[in-house]
Amino acid sequence: MTQLFFSEALLPGGWSRDVRISVADRRIAAVERGASPDSGDERHAIGLPGLANVHSHGFQRGMAGLTELRASSADNFWTWRELMYRFVGRMTPDDVEAITAQAYVDMLEAGFTRVGEFHYIHHDPSGAPYDNIGELAERVVAAARASGIGLTLLPVFYAHFSFGGEPPSDGQRRFINGVDRFADVMDASRRAINGHQDGVVGIAPHSLRAATPDELAAILPLAGGGPIHIHIAEQTKEVDDCMAWSGRRPVQWLLEHMPLDRHWCLIHATHMTDDEARALVATGAVAGLCPVTEANLGDGIFNATPFFATAGRFGIGTDSNVLIGVADELRQLEYAQRLTRRARNVLASPETLSTGRALFDGALAGGAQALGVTGGLAEGQSADIVSLDTGNLALAGRSGDALLDSFIFASRRSPVDCVWTSGRKVVTSGRHHQADAIAAAFRRRLEGLLAA
Ligand code: ZN
Repeated sequence: MTQLFFSEALLPGGWSRDVRISVADRRIAAVERGASPDSGDERHAIGLPGLANVHSHGFQRGMAGLTELRASSADNFWTWRELMYRFVGRMTPDDVEAITAQAYVDMLEAGFTRVGEFHYIHHDPSGAPYDNIGELAERVVAAARASGIGLTLLPVFYAHFSFGGEPPSDGQRRFINGVDRFADVMDASRRAINGHQDGVVGIAPHSLRAATPDELAAILPLAGGGPIHIHIAEQTKEVDDCMAWSGRRPVQWLLEHMPLDRHWCLIHATHMTDDEARALVATGAVAGLCPVTEANLGDGIFNATPFFATAGRFGIGTDSNVLIGVADELRQLEYAQRLTRRARNVLASPETLSTGRALFDGALAGGAQALGVTGGLAEGQSADIVSLDTGNLALAGRSGDALLDSFIFASRRSPVDCVWTSGRKVVTSGRHHQADAIAAAFRRRLEGLLAA
C-alpha cells in the first residue's frame, strides 16, 4: 500500500485540502479529506487526476518539425500528408517502437496518463504483411510498457484512397487491409495488449475516405463493445468530396448512417454546421479535439458555440505529436475561440467560471469515455495521478481553480512534478524514470532514418 498525501487535490466533487490517497494493487483504495499526514506518507503539494490523450499517431513524433518548410505555394494538409507517407515508407519495427516510446515519455512528462493510439501502419515497407500480422501492434504495446502509459489501442481499418472505394495509393501500402485480414489484425492486437495495465482495444475506421459503407458495417462488430474512433470533417476539401460522393456533409452522413452513441469518438469534427454539432451532442459521442495539430496543419477551427452550449463531450489529443502538452492543447482550444469571437473565457460555463477548470474537467470526463475507461481521483479508479510543483513561479500563491488557469495559460515551464500510472510512479521532478535510455534509442533511430 502506497500512501500519497496532497496539500490540495482535485477530487470529483471539487478541490479538497489535506487529501490522503491510498493506492493498492494499481487502484485507488481510499481517499481521505481533511487528513493529517502520517510519517509513512509521500507528501506532495497539488494532486490532479491524470488526463487521457484521445488521439495519437506515435510514430509521427519522429517527423515533428520537419515539415515546417514551404514546398510549394499551396502547402496544406495534403502536401503534409505526402511528406508523412515518405517518412512512413522507411520505418522498421524498431524505428516504430523507439519513436513511439519517446512520444509516450513526452506524454507522461506532460501529465497524460493514458493514450489512444490510432494505429495504422500494419505492414512492411513493401506493403506485404509481416509474418506476424500483429508485429507493429506489438511494437506499440512494447512502447507503452516501456513508458508505463495506459494504452487504448485502436487498430485502423484503411482500404481506399478516397470516397467511393477508390483504390489506395502507393504511399498508403503499409496501411491497407480487407475486412478479413483486418479481423486478424484485431485478434493480434487483443493478444498483444493482453496483460498490459488495464489495456483496452477499440477500433478505428480511418475515415469515410478510407472505408466504404459496406466495409464500415462489416468491421463495426469487431469493436466488441470497445471504443470506435474515426477521423471526420478535418478538412474543407474532405467536406466537399463527401458532398460530391453522397450529397451529405461528413458528420451529417455519420449521423444518418451509423449508430453513433457514447462508444464513438469523432476525431477533429472541425467542420460541422450548428445543426450537426447539436445532433452530435445528442448522441453522447465524444469530439476528439486536437487543437495544436489542427492549427499546425491549417485544418480550421472547431465550431464550439453550439457544441459547448449543449454540454458536448470532448477529449483532447496530440495527434501528429508535433508538440506534446496538456496545457498547450487546452490553451490552443480556448485561444482559437477567443481569436475568432474576439472575446475572452469563451469555454468557461455558467457553472464553472474558471476557463482552466472547465477545460480540464471536460477533457478528463470526455477523454476517459473516449478511451473506454473511467477516471478521476476516487476509490476504485486506476491510480493515474499527477502532482504539480508549487515551486514553479507560475503557481505562486495560487490555490484551487487558479492553479489550473495558471498551469494552462501562464506556465512557460511545465509544473508537472510526479506522475503515477496504475499506481506506479513513472515521472519524478518532471523527468521520466527511463527518459535517458528511451531518448538514446530515439536519437539513434532518428539519425539512421534521416540519414537514409
Ligand atoms: Zn489523426
